[in-house]
Amino acid sequence: MDIRVGFGYDVHRWSADRPLILGGITIAHEMGLYGHSDADILLHAITDALLGALALGDIGTHFPDTDPTYRGADSVYFLTKAYELVGHEGYNLGNIDATIVMERPKLLPFIPSIRGRIASILSVELDQISIKATTSERMGFIGRDEGAAVMATVLIKKNI
Ligand code: MG
Repeated sequence: MDIRVGFGYDVHRWSADRPLILGGITIAHEMGLYGHSDADILLHAITDALLGALALGDIGTHFPDTDPTYRGADSVYFLTKAYELVGHEGYNLGNIDATIVMERPKLLPFIPSIRGRIASILSVELDQISIKATTSERMGFIGRDEGAAVMATVLIKKNI
């Protein structure tokens, strides 16, 4: 197959006294997301989407949260490793489209930096990386500001 699509989904709960890290960027906010690693929910969803595109399992099987190696880990490592696997299988990135669902903070001012950071990590063009943000309109666990979610899709294409 010349092209393959992948989907990733991740959820983390809010936690006081942790930095908010999204797409490898630290964002000023009164809370961060809880997790074994740095809880970069955006990079986790994208990593899962890349692994999914090649039916290579998920982030939990590659980087188990029971492994002390990954305590506090920089999620850029997970993304980089997953993209290496994509390369080893003979594919490269077509594009990424992700939506962050978070009641607060407003993410619009941070989107350019996040896109730039992800494009830089993967050595791709900015227009291959789409990052969007929305709220949950005050409904459900996200709306009650208990946590956040990210959905990501990727398209990878065979190297020519
Ligand atoms: Mg996660």
